[in-house]
Amino acid sequence: MILLDLTLDELKNVIKDLGEPAFRAAQIYSWLNMGVPFEEMTNLSKALREKLRAEYLEGYPNVVTVRESLDGTKKYLFAMQDGSLVESVLMRYEYGNTVCISSQAGCAMGCRFCASTKGGLIRNLSAGEILSQVVAINALEGSGRSVKNVVMMGTGEPFHNYDNVVKAIRLMHAEKGLNISARNISLSTCGLIDGIKKFADEGLPVTLCLSLHSAFDVKRRQIMPVADRYSVKETVAAMRRYYEKTGRRVIFEYILIKDFNDGEEDILELKKLSEKMACHVNLIPYNKVDGVPFEAPTVGHTHAFAAKLNENGVSATVRRSLGRDIDGACGQLRARTMQL
Ligand code: SAH
Repeated sequence: MILLDLTLDELKNVIKDLGEPAFRAAQIYSWLNMGVPFEEMTNLSKALREKLRAEYLEGYPNVVTVRESLDGTKKYLFAMQDGSLVESVLMRYEYGNTVCISSQAGCAMGCRFCASTKGGLIRNLSAGEILSQVVAINALEGSGRSVKNVVMMGTGEPFHNYDNVVKAIRLMHAEKGLNISARNISLSTCGLIDGIKKFADEGLPVTLCLSLHSAFDVKRRQIMPVADRYSVKETVAAMRRYYEKTGRRVIFEYILIKDFNDGEEDILELKKLSEKMACHVNLIPYNKVDGVPFEAPTVGHTHAFAAKLNENGVSATVRRSLGRDIDGACGQLRARTMQL
């Protein structure tokens, strides 16, 4: 068992079973959230540290590769206890450090443009393994560089691993844990509607992002298998319900692919769709992935597309693309390392 999987209350029970007083749980919990190994938990007796080591794992991942970009972005390739590889990215913004974390090793969704689907789904990550990516980066970066914002936009479909993802968000949010505000957490889904509906009722004011990529069903079906299951209309209705329940403006992510979804008709369809709720369109220039025939439009066309959306009353910005020189695209470093 990895202890990072546990809430403070769950940890209290484990510590009680070891015959230790309850206050020890709070001490251990605090160390765990700082990424400190059992051996260095200096306010515990040596005997207890040894007992913990004999029976449990903290749940910290091993660093396989770190790549640093010229813009300061760092990409970490982590190995979990069983060797499963997971990517996490640290981005430095003026408003604080942000990490992008993975929810699964691999992904089953099969989006054509995405490097994370190569090799399919290996397995779900546990709540502690999801949390451990933030804990490890905090510890590796040292004091004063702690992560303020978390985006669940790495490898995996968060709502395909619903329970562990929601538990991980609650763990990150816990006051005695990382104490990250739910408002500083974003989650991106390809559009699993049951997940969107359930998530709206969790009482967590997380920013919900939908990977839309086209407002037309026919186009969306060409690039995302999930579009065969759910229409744009019902997916957007689920997003609207999320907005109504949580009061949080939703984000539509839109990868711009040259000559595919970057025309006038796409702008008009996005306009129709965005009139229905408070939302923002995040335009993502397509990041080239080995073996995929898509291209990004020119920078000029990308900004003109954003400007035309704005003229049509649609709130839209172009996402700054960080870490392009270090396999910045979702899952690309992992895919290359695994030779997928
Ligand atoms: N499964 C979730 C989260 C993971 S992907 C989802 O689909 O939303 C995070 C974001 O990166 C998604 O919007 C995804 O569509 C986008 N993405 C994937 N591959 C990309 C690429 N090659 N270039 C640009 N964005 C990409």
